[in-house]
Amino acid sequence: MDLSNLGQGGQQVKLNVADSPNVECENCENIFFDKVTVIKKISKLLVGTSEDQYVPMETYKCTECGNINKDFKL
Ligand SMILES: [Zn+2]
Repeated sequence: MDLSNLGQGGQQVKLNVADSPNVECENCENIFFDKVTVIKKISKLLVGTSEDQYVPMETYKCTECGNINKDFKL
């Protein structure tokens, strides 16, 4: 029995993004979101540098009500 071909390349998962469900705002069910940036402040005491570090992270807010779904909260 030759198992050498199992688990090797070739099989691509076909994913049709257009068929996937839209994420809705948990507050107003709007499906449009703006990309926004939150900035994490990392204490110099944690990273051992002489100054606090600022790390930007992107998330999304509802264009209608400004809500950020809990899945997107950072
Ligand atoms: Zn909303």
